[in-house]
Amino acid sequence: MSQEGRRIARALAAHAQWLGMSGVDEIPPGLDWPGGLATQEVSRSDVASAMPEANLPGAVSSAAAAASSSNDLGGLRAEIGDCTRCRLSGTRKQIVFGTGNPNARVVFVGEGPGRDEDLQGVPFVGRAGELLTDIIEKGMKIPRSEVYICNVVKCRPPDNRNPEPEEVDACAPFLARQIEIVAPEVIVALGKFAAQTLLETKTPITRLRGHWHEYRGIALMPTFHPAHLLRNPSYKRQVWEDIKQVMERLGLSHA
Ligand code: SF4
Repeated sequence: MSQEGRRIARALAAHAQWLGMSGVDEIPPGLDWPGGLATQEVSRSDVASAMPEANLPGAVSSAAAAASSSNDLGGLRAEIGDCTRCRLSGTRKQIVFGTGNPNARVVFVGEGPGRDEDLQGVPFVGRAGELLTDIIEKGMKIPRSEVYICNVVKCRPPDNRNPEPEEVDACAPFLARQIEIVAPEVIVALGKFAAQTLLETKTPITRLRGHWHEYRGIALMPTFHPAHLLRNPSYKRQVWEDIKQVMERLGLSHA
């Protein structure tokens, strides 16, 4: 099985385990996993070997609904519940789901919660969050409450380390469903980790930023993470150039 196959198998196994814990023992045929995972050939035995501890429900092959059957953010949050699908559940204080307008035209996606976010349960509330708020409110001149903000993983990695691949795989269906529900016109990927995860690439952020990409039919602009700007203020100019492109796309004036 290829590396991509193993990644998909892990994600399917994690979700299957979650479905099993939720009491789901059968998945309706014909449903499609967001992003077309169901089009990949991954067998039940692949899934079982990728996560042997998973208690697989009856039908794994189309784990589609995978992400969730909820069609609103509150329902999705309720389904996530007190999630233990990855080991970050063992060290977090609380799940940091996401915040903002459920009908936002733009979604900002970061990497994962930090210490302040873990304590408050809200994404981007520390110093980097203040800078992001300035970018939105002073730069874009829209209230922060008008956009939607979330992270790739919903639980704080210990010591702010990068999330491990299996943690990203376990949490990915939640992010995919969040974006699907909000259905924004534009996604802004904040930093290397969010950009590379959403675009499934290893291309450096320095080459990704400043150019339009696409995530499942939605325009995506990568830019530097606000925490990176705190360490390297000279990059603010480039972020502003990226944000201006976002504003142009949304028909907002930046004159
Ligand atoms: S990071 Fe995501 S998958 Fe892992 S425990 Fe938290 S909510 Fe669940």
